[in-house]
Amino acid sequence: MSTRSIPAARYEDRLGRAQALLPAHDASALLIGVGAELQWLTGYAAHALPRLTMLVIPSRDRSSLVVPRLELAAARECTAVHAGLIDLITWEETEDPFELVARLLDESNSRPEIQLGALGGAWGRLGGLLVSDRLWATFLLRLQAVVPDAAFGLASTVLSDLRAIKDSEEVELLRTAAHAADRAITRVATGRLIGRTEADIAAEVRERLVAEGHDEAAFWIVASGPNSASPHHEPGERVVQSGQPLLLDIGGRIEGYGSDITRTFWVAGDGYGGPTDEYRHLYDVLQRAQATGTQSVKPGVPAEDVDTAGRRVIEDAGFGPNFIHRTGHGIGLEGHEDPYIVAGNERALVVGNAFSIEPGIYIDGRYGARIEDIVVCGPSGPDTLNEAPRELVVVRGT
Ligand code: ZN
Ligand code: ZN
Repeated sequence: MSTRSIPAARYEDRLGRAQALLPAHDASALLIGVGAELQWLTGYAAHALPRLTMLVIPSRDRSSLVVPRLELAAARECTAVHAGLIDLITWEETEDPFELVARLLDESNSRPEIQLGALGGAWGRLGGLLVSDRLWATFLLRLQAVVPDAAFGLASTVLSDLRAIKDSEEVELLRTAAHAADRAITRVATGRLIGRTEADIAAEVRERLVAEGHDEAAFWIVASGPNSASPHHEPGERVVQSGQPLLLDIGGRIEGYGSDITRTFWVAGDGYGGPTDEYRHLYDVLQRAQATGTQSVKPGVPAEDVDTAGRRVIEDAGFGPNFIHRTGHGIGLEGHEDPYIVAGNERALVVGNAFSIEPGIYIDGRYGARIEDIVVCGPSGPDTLNEAPRELVVVRGT
């Protein structure tokens, strides 16, 4: 799916900013294969194919999108090509696309003023070539063969900070996805649960994510009873029973932008099947931790401080050893991207950062709970995209 909500001016701005950063990285070009970086720069949500598709962004001059002839029609429709921001170059089945990329690099580097190597840089004739992080090894090896003098690095060194700051259209796509996930999770949890397997409920999650507006479902953790103590539980044949928690961690994509929500419900059944005081206490600590982490979000605050703020609440209640993962991850065109909300990440949050806040408490063999929202760093504090209730919701499940 393409990102039709992002106007051409955004791509022009992104391409320009990425290009402008290349000299500071002693790099002569960005070489971007299929994936989130390509989509972010051009709007082209291409399929990963054994035939090379590559966006070549030289440190100056126009950028070119090299595509196999077969993909011409799809590539022509992406916003950056459609708006004339980049050139489209097709290659035929009998041509070597890597030689084509090498020629483009040579052309842009034939200008003496950008022969970085000649200026004393360590990169050699072509300067550094920054390839997209998930470029297949088979492509990278063939690129290395055709430009043997170049040193290769990762495009994320230039693009990650740019992508981590969401513009207003991106925030609205994330918000639309978050609200669709809110509705999906609420509908699943308030329906019949008892007597169904986790796998069956997971199938309903996939349907509801799409029915509520996602282009596709991305993941569907359904963890009942003791399985809720396993953060990445794979939904299986366990049958949901009354008097136990049910953890749902689900997400989908709208125009490539992800939702990611976790809520933990208590399935009570028709009689009075809990929750136990012990579980209520655990959940209360968790909810306070999640709220404290969220409230700590504002520009200038180091990412790790958000982790510390929530973690301290859990530690003070004696559950420190039961919170076994980082607090959160960035989200955008990838489900996990910068900034990571984790000890050791000293980078200060900036307006437009979008990330999850998802502390959990897990009592192995018994039960667990996690609460996850997607939060955007606003000018004066957190903008929480999810709106589904965060308190412990007791559902009948019948
Ligand atoms: Zn999640
Ligand atoms: Zn998450």
